Amino acid sequence: KTVCVTGASGYIASWLVKFLLQRGYTVKASVRDTSDPKKTQHLLSLDGAKERLHLIKADLMEEGSFDAVVDGCDGVFHTASPFYHATKDPQAELIDPALKGTLNVLRSCAKTPSVKRVVLTSSIASVAYNYKPKTPQVLVDESWWSDPEFCVQTQKWYVLSKTLAEDAAWKFVKDKRIELVAINPPMVVGPLLQPTLNTSSAAVLNLINGAETYPNSTYGWADVRDVANAHILAFENPSANGRYLTVESVAHYSEIVKLLRQLYPTLPLPKKCADDKPFVAKYQVSKERAKSLGLEFTPLEQTIKEAVESLKEKGFF
Ligand code: NDP
Repeated sequence: KTVCVTGASGYIASWLVKFLLQRGYTVKASVRDTSDPKKTQHLLSLDGAKERLHLIKADLMEEGSFDAVVDGCDGVFHTASPFYHATKDPQAELIDPALKGTLNVLRSCAKTPSVKRVVLTSSIASVAYNYKPKTPQVLVDESWWSDPEFCVQTQKWYVLSKTLAEDAAWKFVKDKRIELVAINPPMVVGPLLQPTLNTSSAAVLNLINGAETYPNSTYGWADVRDVANAHILAFENPSANGRYLTVESVAHYSEIVKLLRQLYPTLPLPKKCADDKPFVAKYQVSKERAKSLGLEFTPLEQTIKEAVESLKEKGFF
């Protein structure tokens, strides 16, 4: 079978491409810059790449750019979307590529009869950011949606970009024959295949790089390999549908630091929180749908350990 992965050089997508090749798929992979070895070398050296990986240049902001990429594919994994927080122009840098890019990819899929299913890499960003209180008693599940107004008010532009993109995707497929399944991961960490630093891996690196404080934030966390696997399960299981949260555990940064301290007692870890306020409350996230897909979760401690080892091996600290 032939499948397509958009944004193939990215952190999550690289693992997805690796696992797809391992499973015998032919992979048409879109990258923005096919001539940059930092974006392509780690993909080209994967097992099976020589025989079954095809890199194709495509940009989310170019109309029709993905026609050639999805052509002849049974499934499309749409992972490409900008993920960073510092931006001067959120509309142009985050929202347009996420929203217009997703519709651009879906339009290419809709006019390509071979494409039966699209697996969209959405995010917990599209689920959990709204005016509802989050406390240890609250269970966040796939019926939750983030509120664009809340995102604007709190200036969470990346969160807004993911919310608008997923919402538009569901609306787009309503009257189309293509099936859509969304994967909604939280903060994704673990080993890196690509040589560059992505935003969620930087969250771990920042803690082991001599920082004095850790952020007063609570996030869901998941292993990058589990998230990649969830995408494949969502494609291969005919009854997969709707959204799948893939959260191994919810933890405040202080707990991540504690884990790191146990694993690496000699690392110079931050000792205090960035502010004096009470720690942002934890909440629960449902694992039921993810488990129903057959997804097994790597314990966070193992993930964090392998993230640190990988960051070290790649020379980030
Ligand atoms: P990366 O930054 O590693 O990957 C993002 C990918 O998107 C890159 O391949 C990038 O291409 C591509 N991209 C960005 N803008 C464009 C554009 N205009 N045209 C074409 N491609 C573009 O991040 P992740 O692997 O972390 O993210 C992958 C997906 O997972 C995203 O949709 C993200 O929102 C989602 N996600 C990530 C989480 C995480 O914690 N990492 C959590 C939840 C969801 P290029 O290499 O050329 O820049």
